[in-house]
Amino acid sequence: MRRVETVIVGGGISGLACGRALYQAGREFLLLTDRLGGRMHASVDGLNYGAAYVTRDYKHVLQFVDKLAENRMRDVYFWDGRRMINVFHPSNLARAAAFARLYRLLIPFREHVNRLRRRTPDTCQKALLEQDPLLERYVRLSAEELIAEQGLEELTEIFVGPLLFSTLFLTYQEVNAFFYLAIMFPSLITAYTVDVRNAVRRLTAGWRDRIMMQKATAIDGFENKERFEIKAGDELYSARNLVLAVPGHNLEGLAPVECTAKQVPYCTLHVRGTRRSHYMPGKTVFLREEHPVRVLWHQPGDADVIFSGSTGPDLSEYYEHYEITGTVAWKTACQISTDTWRPLMPRENLFTIGDHNILGLEDSYLTGLFAANRIARTTPG
Ligand SMILES: Cc1cc2nc3c(=O)[nH]c(=O)nc-3n(C[C@H](O)[C@H](O)[C@H](O)COP(=O)(O)OP(=O)(O)OC[C@H]3O[C@@H](n4cnc5c(N)ncnc54)[C@H](O)[C@@H]3O)c2cc1C
Repeated sequence: MRRVETVIVGGGISGLACGRALYQAGREFLLLTDRLGGRMHASVDGLNYGAAYVTRDYKHVLQFVDKLAENRMRDVYFWDGRRMINVFHPSNLARAAAFARLYRLLIPFREHVNRLRRRTPDTCQKALLEQDPLLERYVRLSAEELIAEQGLEELTEIFVGPLLFSTLFLTYQEVNAFFYLAIMFPSLITAYTVDVRNAVRRLTAGWRDRIMMQKATAIDGFENKERFEIKAGDELYSARNLVLAVPGHNLEGLAPVECTAKQVPYCTLHVRGTRRSHYMPGKTVFLREEHPVRVLWHQPGDADVIFSGSTGPDLSEYYEHYEITGTVAWKTACQISTDTWRPLMPRENLFTIGDHNILGLEDSYLTGLFAANRIARTTPG
């Protein structure tokens, strides 16, 4: 049996952030993973199949990815019931008051989220939520209640609903106000499509030898024993600290930890072809619920990324001719928290990190820093 101070299970951004910070703190650890990068996933020629956009509030993640293009709202189109429009279309003058109400909510919400982010490396997200009445209210409030309270019905039907549905694969009736508002950040602040191909190399610089390409298959020690025993392949590891950096569907088989986040599966498709003029070639188009696919997301280099419930949808409605050049099916693409946030440290020496509370690369990264900082504060052993 190999003894080590800390084992991290999972090599997505949260596990890698934890490994990087432990390496910088001079601590002993191993990271076990069956795949590096996790949902940050691109093909060798740079096609994104997983996380692909960041905002300028992604202070940590921006160090590791390469910006490809700024996502401009004027290039993003929605169906208003009669035609495709962007947010600058003259018809939106009639909706100016509703937009103002939405942005009056978004501006302080962003400040509170960023305050939570600044403190996440040192304090559990759940505790921070409990200390912040505004964020806590948005976690407990359904999006539907917020929409009714603020008179956002029409904006939701045309803009926010399709954005939510295309990105999270959920209707606004299924999410809380926190996700409803968070999905709108790219309309408030600069957002970029990024190339993630170099991210793993940059994140693991100096400590690549601590990574074991193995899948953890069984873990013992959750009953307050002093050490965890982790089985991976033919190896058995004994660790004082265990960091589980895997999404809910993987966590459930590994640990007696209840996963309350809603797990949403979907497929990412890469498509080359000629879009029909009605579907705005060269632009990004968000589609409504009645469509079999969710977004026609124009990419630098002239391909489209499409999110779909299946790997082979009929796209002839959208393209004159097309070729699906690649697909990836995600068991858990998104995890959407309910009104109960998960503690990142359910007990001494055990951490469950990632996007169980807040979806996205930056917040997942920050949970990795939290685990590493807690471990780095203890005496080595
Ligand atoms: C299609 C798609 C688009 C997205 N778009 C964006 C976006 O544009 N911007 C954004 O910020 N976020 C986006 N997200 C969300 C973002 O990717 C995730 O929130 C984030 O990557 C989660 O990171 P993680 O490290 O917690 O988990 P993951 O990235 O899922 O990493 C978990 C890792 O653990 C490994 N693993 C699982 N079980 C085991 C085991 N038993 N033993 C060893 N290893 C194991 C997995 O192989 C994986 O490598 C998107 C996600 C998807 C799927």
